[in-house]
Amino acid sequence: MDHFLYQNGQLCAEDVPVAEIAAEVGTPFYLYSTATLTRHFRLFDEALNGLDHLVCYAMKAASNQAILKTLADLGAGMDVVSGGEYARAIAAGVPGDRIVFSGVGKTRDEMQAALAGGIRQFNVESEPEMQLLSSVATEMGKTAPITIRVNPDVDAKTHAKIATGKSENKFGIPISRARDVYAMAAALPGLHIIGIDVHIGSQITELEPYRQAYLKVAELTDVLRADGHDIRRLDLGGGLGIPYERSNEAPPLPTEYGALIKETLGHLGCEIEIEPGRLVAGNAGIMVTKVIYVKSGEDRDFLILDGAMNDLIRPAMYDAHHDIIPVAEPAAGIEQQPYDIVGPVCESGDTFAKKRMMPPLSAGDLVAFRSAGAYGAVMSSEYNTRPLIPEVLVHEHQFAVIRARPTFEDMIKRDTIPHWL
Ligand SMILES: *Cc1c(COP(=O)(O)O)cnc(C)c1O
Repeated sequence: MDHFLYQNGQLCAEDVPVAEIAAEVGTPFYLYSTATLTRHFRLFDEALNGLDHLVCYAMKAASNQAILKTLADLGAGMDVVSGGEYARAIAAGVPGDRIVFSGVGKTRDEMQAALAGGIRQFNVESEPEMQLLSSVATEMGKTAPITIRVNPDVDAKTHAKIATGKSENKFGIPISRARDVYAMAAALPGLHIIGIDVHIGSQITELEPYRQAYLKVAELTDVLRADGHDIRRLDLGGGLGIPYERSNEAPPLPTEYGALIKETLGHLGCEIEIEPGRLVAGNAGIMVTKVIYVKSGEDRDFLILDGAMNDLIRPAMYDAHHDIIPVAEPAAGIEQQPYDIVGPVCESGDTFAKKRMMPPLSAGDLVAFRSAGAYGAVMSSEYNTRPLIPEVLVHEHQFAVIRARPTFEDMIKRDTIPHWL
C-alpha cells in the first residue's frame, strides 16, 4: 500500500495534488511520501517483534538526507556500502552504533573513517579485506566488530544483475569455507567476531530462497559456536521484492518474511538485523514527468516524455517494468490505446515501455511512474547534460524540495579548463 491515490480526479501524494507540486517545481521530479516510508519501515520493525532486532535501511536505494532523517527518527539503522554513504548517514544524525558497513571493495580510507566515527559492524566479504581491516584497526588502536558475509549458494530467482547469493557472484565467501575463514579472523588482531552476514539478492519475490539461505545460516551458527566463536548477531540482508506490476504481482509481505526468520533462526538467541532497501523506499516514491509530444509512428504512437533513462535507468538497465499512470484520473471505462513511452535521450535504450496500454494522452499531460522511490534518483546521471531532477518530500498536506534542480550554470561550473587551453 502507498499514499499516491486519486482524490477528486487528481493523483495526490498524501494530501497534496501532484499537479500542484509540478506547477511549482517543474517536471520531471521525484516525489516521496513520508507516510509510506514510515509505514514500510514499521512493517519490518513490527514483523521482528519478539526478537532482539535492528532494521538497517539499505540507503543505497534512496539516500537523500531527508529520507534518511525520516527513517532515523523512527529508530532505523543504516546499511552503507561506501564512505560517501557513511558520511551521509552520519550527516543525517544516525549514530555510528546503528550503521553497518557492507560492500566488497571497502578501502583503507573508508575503514578509517568508519572506525573513527563509530560503526556497529563491518560485514567483511573476503580474506584480503579482513587482513586490511585488521591492520587499519590495529594502527588506530581500535577493535573492529565484524561479521563475515557468507555466500550460501542459493538461487534467489531474480534478475541476474541483482542476484548475489550464487557461488558465481562476487559477494561474500563460500559458505563451505566459512570455518577456515572464521578461524583466520579469530587469529587476527584488531577484529572482534560478532556474527554472520548473508544477503542473497534484490527484488526477491518468493520466500523459498530465503528459507534455504537462513537454514544454512542456522546450521553454520551451530558449527561456528562449536568451534568457539561468539556468534550473537545475524545480519540477514535485504532484498524483499515489491509489486512493480500491481495487476499481477504479489510478493511476500514483511510479516511473512518476519515469520520465516523466527521459524528458521528464532531459536538461536541471536540479535537479528535486516537490511531492506527497495521495500522501504520503492513504493514510497514516484517520478512525475510531462508528455512533450505525441508522435505517430508507422504502427504505433510514441509518448515522448521530459523524463528519460538518465533520470530513471531501471527499464534500460534491468528491463524493469514500472506502472505509468496519468496524473489526471482517466474517466471510468475510457478506451485505452498502446503507446511506446520514451524519453528524449539519443539512445534507443531510452524506452520506458513498449505498446503500453494507456488512456489517450496529449502534449502537456502529466504522468507518474509508480514504484520509482528505490534505485531511481540515486542511479540518475546528467547524461545529455540533463540536470539531475529534483526530489520532493510530502508530509500530509505539506511538501518540500529536498534536492533542488541544478541550473545549467551550476553544472558547467563543475568543469575546469586546464591552463594550456
Ligand atoms: C543492496 C543491498 C541491500 C538492499 O537490497 P534491497 O533489495 O534494496 O532490499 C541490502 N544489503 C546489501 C548488502 C545490499 O548490497
